Amino acid sequence: MPLFPFDNSYARDLPGFYVPWKPATVPQPRLLYLNLPLADELGLDGVALQAEAAAVFSGNSVPEGAQPIAQAYAGHQFGGFSPQLGDGRALLLGEVIDRQGRRRDIAFKGSGRTPFSRGGDGKAAVGPMLREVLVGEAMHALGIATTRALAVAATGETVMRELPLPGAVLTRVAASHLRVGTFQFYAARGELDRVRQLVDYAVQRHDPALAAAPDRALGLLRAVAARQAGLIAQWMNVGFIHGVMNTDNMTLSGETIDYGPCAFMEAYHPEAVFSSIDHGGRYAYANQPHIARWNLARLAETLLPLMAELHGEGDPAMQRAVDEAMAVIDGFPALYEAQLLAGQRAKLGLAAAGSTDDTADAALAADWLALLQQQAVDFTLGWRRLADAAAGDDAALRALFAEPAALQPWLARWRERCAQDAARGGPDSAGRAQAMRRASPWLIPRNHQVEAALTAASNNDDPGPFNRLLQALQRPFDEDPALADYAQPAPAEVTAGYQTYCGT
Ligand code: AMP
Ligand code: MG
Repeated sequence: MPLFPFDNSYARDLPGFYVPWKPATVPQPRLLYLNLPLADELGLDGVALQAEAAAVFSGNSVPEGAQPIAQAYAGHQFGGFSPQLGDGRALLLGEVIDRQGRRRDIAFKGSGRTPFSRGGDGKAAVGPMLREVLVGEAMHALGIATTRALAVAATGETVMRELPLPGAVLTRVAASHLRVGTFQFYAARGELDRVRQLVDYAVQRHDPALAAAPDRALGLLRAVAARQAGLIAQWMNVGFIHGVMNTDNMTLSGETIDYGPCAFMEAYHPEAVFSSIDHGGRYAYANQPHIARWNLARLAETLLPLMAELHGEGDPAMQRAVDEAMAVIDGFPALYEAQLLAGQRAKLGLAAAGSTDDTADAALAADWLALLQQQAVDFTLGWRRLADAAAGDDAALRALFAEPAALQPWLARWRERCAQDAARGGPDSAGRAQAMRRASPWLIPRNHQVEAALTAASNNDDPGPFNRLLQALQRPFDEDPALADYAQPAPAEVTAGYQTYCGT
């Protein structure tokens, strides 16, 4: 039996959308990480994989049935359009159907130069690839849609960055690698038929219910908007900052992709930004929903000619398509706000919408966040200790605030709102606290812990801290005194100077 039962629809259905290519061979392949639970989810034989892991996951031995290809895509990067990006250091090996019948891409990152590499070396370093493992697996455990790491192999090469670093190849699993930028690549070249092919392919893969609909381009836009609204709301409710929401890093599937300069916020501040190159704060925490909408507008632009075809010819037909697209784009904030509020209600321990007042509940959440901001309270612990307060113990929550007295009026308001739920047959305080602890994690990958784990693994060849942190992050909602270190914020001076880097 082959290691991967590949069925490669992208290579088969979309000739001309990629360049067939081979991964570079590397001098000293060594397996650093293999995600056995994910391998099992994919229906792969973990034992067989392990036996060949170093050769396969380094790119030295292309597995049977793989058809490695470099995909073409474009993208707006920090607002400026690059007509040709593409897989400059990545290759899609192929697709497998997982145990639940879902088609999943298996792709390399860091597997050498391709025709899309421009000035780059096509390589990746151990630290950033292990970072992608940690953050992606943490996101998955938090219940957030994400691409995931199947494996990381060290290559034995030195990769030149600001410093020489050990090289690595990541194997990434994704619902697909279709990006807004994939559509932009063909739209920018005026290749309408190729945009049409992409729409059909994307619909087949992500929204099969739309396959027969004449207006499936519009339907796809709506579906992507809905997925992204849900995704970004989840990011916001765990304090995740992606850091580089370029259109080539926004998926059609609604999965988080490309863990480059991302970070989780500690002290709450809506303008938080960590990326060393994001000087204007374009991708700051609070800007993420606005950027998602902006990116959706770029996707919409690529679809307009197809949408207009349904309405005849000329300006009136185009105007109708523009109106349809604008309705989706303008509707995005409301979609997002609804998802955000649903998540905030769960974190506040409040019943879902229905008989409740959206405006009042949104204000309750906003005023809570304002308190966290005013007193620079840790976002994760603030929410988590609110669950203790729901159970009747305010002490740990108050301890997070320099001036706990300022919290009192808000707590009283919140308790009144909780009492309304209880009067309507909602949970008692213990039930509420328990539900809140499923909505607000105790553990996130804290930046200083991630850096410590990566430094040990990359510089000292010590996988211990990485393995322990990864293990802890598998169960982010369960408090475990033995893991208390991981729940602590970094010292303020560390956070103040914390920067993350792109393209590493
Ligand atoms: P990213 O910032 O990782 O989303 O990458 C943006 C673009 O730069 C993509 O086209 C990547 O393939 C390309 N790229 C990033 N790093 C490298 C590298 N080391 N070598 C070649 N291409 C790269
Ligand atoms: Mg990218």
